[in-house]
Parts: sequence; C-alpha cells; structure tokens
Amino acid sequence: MDNPYAPPKDLSNNVLVRGFDPKKDTELSVEGDLIVCSDNATWPDRCVICNEKTDSQKFTRKLFWHPSWLYLLFLVSWLIYLIVALIVRKKGTIHISLCERHRNHRLVGMLLLWVGIPLSIVAIFVGGTLSSHSSDLSGIIAVVGIFGILGFLIAGLILIKTVIPRRIQDGMLWLKAGKRFTDSL
Ligand SMILES: [Zn+2]
Repeated sequence: MDNPYAPPKDLSNNVLVRGFDPKKDTELSVEGDLIVCSDNATWPDRCVICNEKTDSQKFTRKLFWHPSWLYLLFLVSWLIYLIVALIVRKKGTIHISLCERHRNHRLVGMLLLWVGIPLSIVAIFVGGTLSSHSSDLSGIIAVVGIFGILGFLIAGLILIKTVIPRRIQDGMLWLKAGKRFTDSL
C-alpha cells in the first residue's frame, strides 16, 4: 500500500528543479557594471567577490529593493517610510558562492554586528551606572561607546557585503558584485 504521507511526485520534482538547477548558471548576463539574472538563479562555483574557484556550497541570499525616491519619505517620517517600503519593496533570491577567505570575512562581520554592537550597548549602560558620580567619566564612556558602535556597524556591513541589489523587477534582478567576478562573465 502506498504511503499516504509521501509528497506527490510532481511536487518533489518541482522543489528539486526550483532549488538548484545547474542550467541556470548560464542565465547570468552583464549590463554595464551590473549582473542581471532571474529570480532564484544559481550562480557559478566562483567567489562573487574575488572570482576564485569554490566548492559547490552555496549561500542563499534574500534581497530586497525599492526605488531610491522612496528615501525622500524618510524626511517626512521614518514610520511612513518603513510602512511604504515594506509594501512596495521587491524581493528576490539568489544562490551564490564565496571563497574561504570571504566566507571568513562574512563570519567576522556577522559577529561584529550581532555580538560586538550588543556588547557595546551593555558596556555603555554598565559604564554609565558605575560612573554615575562623575559626569565627565560617564560622558567619555558614552562618546567612546557610540564611536565603538558606529565602528562595529561600518566594519560589519563592509565585511558581510556580497552583492548589492540595484533593481528588482518582474522576476529579474540587477546586482552589483565583485569587479573580478563581473568581468569574468
Ligand atoms: Zn573570494
């Protein structure tokens, strides 16, 4: 007797094809300094930053984009901007490769963002509490802490950067990747 819980054969085939279709490697094209590909494309086994040959391990990147004029709404109200941006933003997914060096960069960047920044915030509060009798000292702790957070934020964002969406429209993505990778296409 057939297993009633088994997924329909057609559906499981679809999942396989949609996930990693090697044919989609050929769908990448270049427009100016941008790479154009379809949504859910699987990129070649080369680092998207330095173009070094990689193993077949892929990183799935979910990307969001909205027209840049929308930032003007930020001047009116960050809340209105946020709501409109969440409604009109376009989404896309790509499967990309990174070499070992750039995988490590990404890992360090994530640590800075997700561990370094929260720890800095805690340090500011603890330092502020301990030095509450000295306004000079708590002022210095606040300034150092804020610069620390900004430093972690900037360094973290630079290190985790892989591809930047410049446009997402009608199931197609226009992306900025590493120059060496783009030039090789
Ligand atoms: Zn690399």
